[in-house]
Amino acid sequence: MKRVFNFSAGPAVLPEPVLEQAASEMLNYKNTGMSVMEMSHRSKAYEEIILAAENDLRALMNIPDNYKVLFLQGGGHLQFSMVPLNLCKNGVADYIVTGEWAKKAIAEGKRYLDARKIATSEDQMFSYIPNCDDLPISDNADYVYICENNTIYGTKFHKLPNTKGKILISDMSSCILSEPVDVSKYGLIFAGAQKNIGPAGTTIVIIREDLITENFLPFTPTMLQYKIHADKGSMYNTPPTYGIYICGLVFKWLLNLGGLEIMKEMNYKKAKLLYDFLDNSKLFRGTVEKKDRSVMNVTFVTASAEMNDLFVKESKAAGFDNLKGHRSVGGMRASIYNAMPYAGVEALVAFMKQFEKEHQL
Ligand SMILES: *Cc1c(COP(=O)(O)O)cnc(C)c1O
Repeated sequence: MKRVFNFSAGPAVLPEPVLEQAASEMLNYKNTGMSVMEMSHRSKAYEEIILAAENDLRALMNIPDNYKVLFLQGGGHLQFSMVPLNLCKNGVADYIVTGEWAKKAIAEGKRYLDARKIATSEDQMFSYIPNCDDLPISDNADYVYICENNTIYGTKFHKLPNTKGKILISDMSSCILSEPVDVSKYGLIFAGAQKNIGPAGTTIVIIREDLITENFLPFTPTMLQYKIHADKGSMYNTPPTYGIYICGLVFKWLLNLGGLEIMKEMNYKKAKLLYDFLDNSKLFRGTVEKKDRSVMNVTFVTASAEMNDLFVKESKAAGFDNLKGHRSVGGMRASIYNAMPYAGVEALVAFMKQFEKEHQL
């Protein structure tokens, strides 16, 4: 069967060469006589896999030496808890609430500290990023929290907030590796793998070393302490071994393509093709403010819910899968992560043009 163009927000499309390599190594990884799935995480072969994955990620993102890379589990959701549990010192943290994921993060933060909403775009259905140049940052804030790319509503921080010297925490689940970032501007970056990296089950945390302490809240379960994972090289317990292996293959794929500058160029070109079409369409329109548009998740609607449903149905039949918007917002969403080829977006735009012709009032 032919592969579809998969616009899923996550778990999402992976690069075909990665899937092919994984398939070719499925039964016998590099003459070990076994699959990576069957391998001890303490074996020599696996040690090489996880080390290479870390080194390749460091090279791709230009991660400074005073940052640790952790391969954990529990997804973005567990980071909503681990961040306040581990970084609570003064008991105050500031959150910029730009969508569902930030809302969940602040709700979780409130269980452990005084989590303050210092800015939000809730008044306009999260269709923009508030101006963050001069926010009322709390004097004693332990950190300032953002969700850098808003997967559900389709917005992105194109400029980081002015945290007035406080540590910046970023949920990069749906934009990590889509373009270069200056890691040194952050205290901690986290991302679930299943959007723009690899299979669900692996969570990546990039954390500045001075934030890895034993000053977590006293009831913090051992498994939720950054320190133990950092001390044990992500091997305190069995890590998600196969997921990390696939992430490693994706890192190699990105390095072979030329790294994140090239990836950025490709991603912006893909997004522009789709946004330009939306801006000129009589049937479809984008749902967020132009200056804040996500490069990864493109949200759009027609004039009616019935027409949206018809579009989702017909596009699926034509081989474009998962274009239905998130259940909380409706409409449509095309997630065009790193692994979505330009040809996929081209084909989608051609299909939308045809649909528009047939259904224009
Ligand atoms: C998907 C997503 C999450 C939630 O991830 P889980 O791995 O399901 O816990 C959190 N933040 C962002 C930005 C996401 O896109």
